[in-house]
Amino acid sequence: MARILAVANQKGGVGKTTTSVNLAAALAAAKRKVLLVDLDPQGNATMASGVDKHEAKPNGCEVLLDEAAIGDVLVRTEAGFDLLPGNGDLTAAELKLMDGLAREHRLKEQLAKISDKYHTILIDCPPSLHLLTLNALTAADGVLIPVQCEYFALEGLSSLLDTISAVRQRLNPKLEVEGLLRTMYDVRNNLGNEVSAQLTQHFGDKVLRSIIPRNVRLAEAPSHGQPIHLYDRGSRGAIAYIGLAGEIIRRERAMSTHDAGELTND
Ligand code: ADP
Ligand code: MG
Repeated sequence: MARILAVANQKGGVGKTTTSVNLAAALAAAKRKVLLVDLDPQGNATMASGVDKHEAKPNGCEVLLDEAAIGDVLVRTEAGFDLLPGNGDLTAAELKLMDGLAREHRLKEQLAKISDKYHTILIDCPPSLHLLTLNALTAADGVLIPVQCEYFALEGLSSLLDTISAVRQRLNPKLEVEGLLRTMYDVRNNLGNEVSAQLTQHFGDKVLRSIIPRNVRLAEAPSHGQPIHLYDRGSRGAIAYIGLAGEIIRRERAMSTHDAGELTND
């Protein structure tokens, strides 16, 4: 069974898509079987993975509405991970799902059909806490929260954490915060250092050790339809996402050793 991580923060422009695509690629480069689900109607993760969102039909919309088999919709990307593409059709899917039964469980049910083929499934969420994001949080084991190290960074976090608690209570008891990821970090900026210190103070070891620096190559890569390690593998951005993949893999291993320990103790 794959571990499912939702990359979520209702704030736009914090690095959700950049993290989803480049973490997917870095995990794939480390020989992990990875599926990236683009759940944002903007389709940025789809384009940044080298797949034309305008041609992506069927896509996540039909999967959520149970109008296409998920296995038929997946696309293998150049970087070696599979993609469930998304585009503006997801907005229509969200509207149609509003009146549906078990509307928050649709993605979970679909991913369950293919979950045994992957080590990790990453879900790139839209910048909202509405039904598409609720589907991601209902399907997920963990939430990866990119936080841009700037003044208003902490502001939306409490409503995101409230939503995560509500989902845990009502829809998905196993949901955990995987970690907060500092993105677009600039060492020369005092504010960034202050925000980073505040994050650690509030959230302790939920703040991931890896830090993603501000790096122009990360911003350029999507227009070439390539994850950073294909576009410029020596860049600071590429190295940071390889580091993040290593940290995620180490945490998974620590968790499975812990679980195995619990089993033996029984
Ligand atoms: P979100 O998905 O949260 O809206 P994106 O990943 O699309 O955020 O990032 C917003 C913008 O910032 C994009 O133009 C992206 O290329 C750029 N960006 C993201 N991370 C970095 C980074 N570490 N350094 C420089 N630019 C970045
Ligand atoms: Mg995005």
